[in-house]
Amino acid sequence: DDAPNSEHFTLTPIGHVVSDYPDKFGIPRQPGLAPAANAQLVLTAPFNDPLAVRGLEDFSHLWLSFIFHQSPERWSPLVRPPRLGGNKKVGVFASRSTHRPNRLGLSLVRLIAIDTQHGVTLLLQGCDLVSGTPVVDIKPYLPWAESHPNAQAGFAPAAPSLMDVTFHPTALDMLAHRQDSATLRALIEQVLRQDPRPAYKQKEQGSERLYGVRLRDVDVKFCPRQNGEATTLEVMAIE
Ligand code: SAM
Repeated sequence: DDAPNSEHFTLTPIGHVVSDYPDKFGIPRQPGLAPAANAQLVLTAPFNDPLAVRGLEDFSHLWLSFIFHQSPERWSPLVRPPRLGGNKKVGVFASRSTHRPNRLGLSLVRLIAIDTQHGVTLLLQGCDLVSGTPVVDIKPYLPWAESHPNAQAGFAPAAPSLMDVTFHPTALDMLAHRQDSATLRALIEQVLRQDPRPAYKQKEQGSERLYGVRLRDVDVKFCPRQNGEATTLEVMAIE
């Protein structure tokens, strides 16, 4: 039983993410869509050796391989991408779904700094990962080999259209009391612009129910507002 098995591989996380996203709900569906989102990647012993990141500080972007640890292990060959309104199906391997065999995720993130004072902590921006996500590998991004701006992107040919976001005066007042008001406001705008409501809700016109999304240590309450044809998301409270 101790013989190496080339059909099964065990992954050991090298660290975990501490991010502005306490919950899965509301996180943009790809990295870079909310550049105001800060995260730290805290490496775990024995991977937190400063030697292991020597030279990495000269790269502006990194690939993170991680585990969708909050997704169930079960998967099916067809998934319903939110991008297709949640009703059309595509193959799991034609999607970036979190419900996939091996639950491996891949995100391209911006590297801001590396702190090697106590172990190793990478400061990142634009992460699409929930706080606590286990990371299994880091690789530097090579733009000359890995950037293909004219590539064909199937059912997701371009960035999704953005919603208008407004703030109720009460919410602005709550923001004004915070030390991080400028960056928190930017984060709220960038997250809500992506329209975090479930796909089927987005089609529901005239429903003005209140939604909540947790960012940093606050609960952001927002509400869809009908403006003729267009819908705006209005931030009602920041608690
Ligand atoms: N860029 C990655 C990729 O392509 O593999 C992730 C794409 S996935 C569509 C992004 C979503 O994963 C986020 O909107 C968030 O809700 C969810 N998510 C983030 N971290 C997660 C985790 N640790 N477990 C399960 N779901 C997670």
